[in-house]
Amino acid sequence: MSDNIEKLDCLIIGSGPAGYTAAIYAARADLKPVMYMGLEPGGQLTTTTEVDNFPGYPEGIDGPTMMEQLKAQAERFGTDIRWGYVTKTELSEEVGGYHKVWVDEKTEIHAKTVIIATGASAKYLGLESEQRLMGFGVSACAVCDGFFYKGQEVVLVGAGDTAAEEASYLAKLCPKVTMLVRRDEMRASKAMQHRVQNTDNIVIKYNTETVEVLGEKGVEGVRVKNNQTGEEEVIPATGFFVAIGHKPNTDIFKGQLDMDNVGYLITKADSTQTNRPGVFATGDAQDKIYRQAVTAAGTGCMGALEAERYLAEL
Ligand code: NDP
Repeated sequence: MSDNIEKLDCLIIGSGPAGYTAAIYAARADLKPVMYMGLEPGGQLTTTTEVDNFPGYPEGIDGPTMMEQLKAQAERFGTDIRWGYVTKTELSEEVGGYHKVWVDEKTEIHAKTVIIATGASAKYLGLESEQRLMGFGVSACAVCDGFFYKGQEVVLVGAGDTAAEEASYLAKLCPKVTMLVRRDEMRASKAMQHRVQNTDNIVIKYNTETVEVLGEKGVEGVRVKNNQTGEEEVIPATGFFVAIGHKPNTDIFKGQLDMDNVGYLITKADSTQTNRPGVFATGDAQDKIYRQAVTAAGTGCMGALEAERYLAEL
């Protein structure tokens, strides 16, 4: 082992609300944290236009600006924020052991504590029109963006618990929510299915797939196709919500950290502690239920406080 390898007390992987909040707390506790920002600096919020539900911004704030401010706040206390993507890890099983991390497949770093804030990525259909109108009527988060479609008709695709929950949320704001279900039944729990089926302004279209999201500068409608009959129709809508699941960005921890079958990291109750000592999981990488910026920030804070305690006890 070369002596040139950088050794850290605290390494933060990921730069969404969880990562930056962890950085603010860790830097203020003098852990001299180093953060690698990952492939999408700022995380999922940088794909959102307006953030209206983060406390402290009475007028709302756009996602990228909010992330710039969080970054500036983390830097103010001395966080060393770097470009780079963690490609491999070897996490120690020993208390006090160094965790080995490789950045961009070449730079090896050793850290006594690792705060994971790698987030999750919303899944999209992969249509060209959907990608082009992202942030201009296409959204993967009804709770974040639904408010902007108040009083307007929207379409939502998906049939799991998230889709059902988001359809119910949108139905409180919008006169009509059309839910596109690709099979002849929904995957969501029976209770959630009953809820959407019994909501007057939710129209469920089974066996229906999205062909194209229509509109130039904003969403104007959705062309859909019945996959049994082949029949196509256009549903007028100004919002198109995709709720077909998320994928936590945790592949690099496979075989080392406990995770569920989708890849969400499993932590001890009321804690961000993973199954490896000194490794803490925060934000959407471990939260499949709430997935909000403010809850991610909360667990980022927990991760840093736990890292501080862990180092103090060594
Ligand atoms: P799920 O994986 O459960 O559901 C994804 C849904 O999207 C499925 O219905 C799937 O259809 C559909 N889908 C996937 N790809 C496409 C596509 N290309 N076109 C059209 N439809 C597609 O994800 P969720 O985010 O809903 O839930 C994730 C986990 O979190 C689940 O375990 C869920 O129970 C849990 N959860 C729990 C909540 C709660 O308890 N309050 C709230 C939210 C989530 P198909 O069924 O045909 O495969």
